Amino acid sequence: MKPRYRTGDQALVREINLSIVFNQLWTNAPLSRAQLASMTGLNKTTVSSLVHELLSKGFVREAGLCSSHGGRPAMLIEPNPNAGCMIGVEIGVDFIFAILTNFRANIEWRHYESTEAHPSYQTIIERAKGIIRDAAHMADRLGLSLLGVGVGVPGLVDIDSGLVSFAPNLEWHDIPLRDLLSASLSVPILVDNDANLSALGEYYFGAARGAETFIYISMGVGLGAGIFLEGRPYRGIGGYAGEVGHMTLQDDGLPCKCGNYGCWETVVSNRAVINQARAAVETHPRSRMVELAHGQAERITLPVVMKAAEEGDETALEVLRQAGYYLGVGIANLVNTFNPELIVLGGALSQAHPFLLSIAKQVMAERALAMPAKSTRIVTSIHGKDACALGAVGSIIHKILTAPNYALNNRQ
Ligand SMILES: [Zn+2]
Repeated sequence: MKPRYRTGDQALVREINLSIVFNQLWTNAPLSRAQLASMTGLNKTTVSSLVHELLSKGFVREAGLCSSHGGRPAMLIEPNPNAGCMIGVEIGVDFIFAILTNFRANIEWRHYESTEAHPSYQTIIERAKGIIRDAAHMADRLGLSLLGVGVGVPGLVDIDSGLVSFAPNLEWHDIPLRDLLSASLSVPILVDNDANLSALGEYYFGAARGAETFIYISMGVGLGAGIFLEGRPYRGIGGYAGEVGHMTLQDDGLPCKCGNYGCWETVVSNRAVINQARAAVETHPRSRMVELAHGQAERITLPVVMKAAEEGDETALEVLRQAGYYLGVGIANLVNTFNPELIVLGGALSQAHPFLLSIAKQVMAERALAMPAKSTRIVTSIHGKDACALGAVGSIIHKILTAPNYALNNRQ
């Protein structure tokens, strides 16, 4: 098959230039047209024409005059928060969470609901559709036009088709999620893996702002990563990159949901910590965790482990030390492989960061090669439980900033 290069295509060149200007405004606004020209290398006439188009479609707005170097004051331009709104949805293992944000990702509405364990995918999708409808009504009421819907799921996703090929903890195989959700909507729907979206959320609005090469590690029921290389999400050949939870860390480790043994997520995840704590109290029945769980080991949860650890319970502290140790070992492997400037820790287990972070940093420093280890910072997510839904919103913004025609052409 012949490659479909569109060489010499004026419209394509204009869209690329529009994307460059829009990205600069998104990251560095407010900026004058002259500043945009010098930052992008585009000539002033081109910049003025592109800014005019963004202004006329309402995606940017004038933000007042700036006086500079004794010359004529210049009008500053910035993205318009009221350019439209986006819906971000996270379908979790036992919940659905959705937000509606304006164009600057300020949350205007949010909704969380629990879903019972393992309902049919049809039930979950019907409930997600209902929530998306409610969010769209709220957008109407706020007078904001809907620009798109982003949806995150804990599984392997083909982002071109929106097909969830495998979500082990939801027990989904080959679910055409985008098609099933889009029946009732006229705006684009983007479906992606939850960790990839959380990484995007941190890149646009969170702890990874300004970082070009970083890894977001989602420590939830399982463990996954969103990898950003040189300012772009890295997806691999099939879109399945980032399944770092299944790299082997222990030769003779515990069995994993994926069928392998000793995977990273069998020692570092919310589920792993809870399982370790429940096993530990069998040999340490005087642990404070037993009391806090009213004598029933199966009632030990992460908050119980953390509370006991805060009170100085040695068994709980040891469980968290183990998780912190293996977190550091896994991060050392990632640091040697990717040489990232930043590791962002998110997901439920990241709440335990006061017990995990310092030991993970120490182990990473000891085990990774000295040079890459020196340039890597490890931080926790800024957005916590909102990270994936905000990232889903970020995926719509990412689409608009990289291919702005899609949004501009749909605007009167
Ligand atoms: Zn595994």
